[in-house]
Amino acid sequence: MLLQTDVGGVPVLVVGASGEVDASVRRWSRAGAVVTTAVYGTDPADPAADDLATLTTLTTRAETAHVAVLVGSADRPAVREVLEGRCLVVTEPAPVSRRGRVVLVGAGPGGPGLLTLDAVDALADADVVLADRLAEVGDLTRLAPGARIVDVGKRPGHHAVPQERIESRMVAAALEGLTVVRLKGGDPYVFGRGGEEVAAAVEAGVPVTVVPGVTSAVGVPGAAGIPVTHRGVSHVVTVVSGHVPLTDEQAGGLVALGGTIVLLMGVHNLVPLTGALVAAGLPATTPAAVVERGLTPAQRSVVGTVATLPDLARRHGVTSPAVIVVGEVVRRSQVWDRRVDGAVVADAEDGGRAGDADALADLTSWLEVVA
Ligand code: SAH
Repeated sequence: MLLQTDVGGVPVLVVGASGEVDASVRRWSRAGAVVTTAVYGTDPADPAADDLATLTTLTTRAETAHVAVLVGSADRPAVREVLEGRCLVVTEPAPVSRRGRVVLVGAGPGGPGLLTLDAVDALADADVVLADRLAEVGDLTRLAPGARIVDVGKRPGHHAVPQERIESRMVAAALEGLTVVRLKGGDPYVFGRGGEEVAAAVEAGVPVTVVPGVTSAVGVPGAAGIPVTHRGVSHVVTVVSGHVPLTDEQAGGLVALGGTIVLLMGVHNLVPLTGALVAAGLPATTPAAVVERGLTPAQRSVVGTVATLPDLARRHGVTSPAVIVVGEVVRRSQVWDRRVDGAVVADAEDGGRAGDADALADLTSWLEVVA
């Protein structure tokens, strides 16, 4: 549940059973309210909310509170009697289930605008967010106002918390009964180790679901106006990890297959990757591009051929994260049209996000033919 009301500086009293108020306290605090709590135990032997001692505490705190939030079982007549008339009383449901779960959420490769509506809903419901990329999606405390946010610091090429620790933390939090969002760059299943994280949850008996995300393999070339497929130009697109160089056999297979080759995690291997493709028979004149920090304000593209790209990228200081695209589709892009000195461009003022007008015209006529 996202709070849309401005409660900045408003004194708020949150009342509820221990273990049930935490998310509510975080939500109101992050919305700017000045929160105090009145918490009672859930053990039947503990003083109940209408116990005299609790009511005395409530009476004192209600003097200063403008709003009282009754979470779950705190909404009972004796409590209301004390608070009503002193402050505005609102209710919130207790956390739905004490059974935890994991939601793997793809955050897309850029800013918050690339989150899906399902991703936004999952974040809004989260008790804990284990996030790879805090910077890109912006203010997570706003998107996940009830959650404890943990930066596991995994960014392309940089793993701050080892994978096994991320998985055990994720599972442990879910077994405590919490709703855990595991927020990952791009799509969780594209070089994202999503499969391993789902397996870890399944093995621990924790319910797990996956919210797909926009993958950089398609979205980042697209942001530079490079269509990864194009009617009459390429009807095959192969997404490959460039983390380690290609074997001769792999390069031969890719060249034989034809179409578009998209390489992720490959900037540091540009020389052996492109070299292997040319050695396997790809014409050295094949257009190629590298799009750095796609879909962010710092997006930049370097465009050349499969033979010239490594040197151009080095001269222009291209670094990870970047997507390499090899194939005739690059010739269909805006960045190809605007390349300077036959080679290099910075992206458009609009961040290169507009579509290729020619490609769009082709697509439109194709749609007309199909219709
Ligand atoms: N699951 C992610 C990919 C993780 S592998 C996805 O679906 O997008 C990390 C690689 O993704 C990086 O090395 C880079 O090649 C690519 N990448 C991710 N975000 C990017 C961005 N904003 N710009 C360019 N490349 C990006």
